[in-house]
Amino acid sequence: MPADYSGRVALVTGGGGGIGRATALAFAGAGARVAVSDIDEPGGQETVAQILDAGGEAIFVRADVSQAADVDSLVARTVETWGRLDAAFNNAGINGFMKDEWDEEVFSRTLAINLTGVMLCMRREIRQMLEQGQGAIVNTASMNGLVGNAGQPAYVSSKHGVVGITRQAALQHARSGIRVNAVCPGVIDTAMTAPVAAAPGGTELLASMTPMGRMGQPEEIASVVLWLCSEEASFVTGQPIAVDGGATAQ
Ligand code: NAD
Repeated sequence: MPADYSGRVALVTGGGGGIGRATALAFAGAGARVAVSDIDEPGGQETVAQILDAGGEAIFVRADVSQAADVDSLVARTVETWGRLDAAFNNAGINGFMKDEWDEEVFSRTLAINLTGVMLCMRREIRQMLEQGQGAIVNTASMNGLVGNAGQPAYVSSKHGVVGITRQAALQHARSGIRVNAVCPGVIDTAMTAPVAAAPGGTELLASMTPMGRMGQPEEIASVVLWLCSEEASFVTGQPIAVDGGATAQ
């Protein structure tokens, strides 16, 4: 039984597909009003349409998380619309799959979205939550925020950074009623892993990377995010929670 989010307001970045869409739908299904954000406008609008079709309440706000002005107006628009912000899921991210992540431009862009994006979102969200005296934030890191990966220097650095800033913000605001945690997904079946899955033997390869022998589904991340943002997790802060089918237990 998921937590009851009736009367609460949630914000989801990267809500145009994959883990973000599944989490936006889960928040709405639990009664929250949801601000769905993405740079992918059709994807974000589709998420909102699915929420509205199911009888929920949602708005789409286009925002590039690497741009402070976009992020500031995303949070401002959410608060203007519903008066508060209870739960924020900072989830937008990119992966350098198929690219040379030692390339300076690729490295910088990956950090700008995956890490600076999380910082810009938290900075503005926390300001709102401090005014309210409460709030919960979950950032999307990765199992690559907990352990290394020989192939992806930019992605691994950015996701280790997300775990670091999650711990930092949790400590800074531990006495202000704001909890900050991170989810660390393993291999999840989304557009991000699709290029690898589409290669010959790709699905088997991805499944074999996980002790459970299968990829995770976006809904399996969403349920953990909802728990982390709920009162059920009221004494949990500063934690990177692996949701990876056992990958980082190896
Ligand atoms: P996805 O590609 O479906 O979702 C990522 C979303 O982020 C997309 O909708 C994309 O348009 C959006 N986005 C990209 N750049 C953006 C920007 N600058 N501003 C705003 N939005 C932007 O893939 P996903 O798997 O759902 O990824 C969600 C998060 O989960 C990412 O942070 C990713 O790193 C993380 N993650 C995914 C996996 C996996 O196996 N799929 C594993 C670990 C972590």
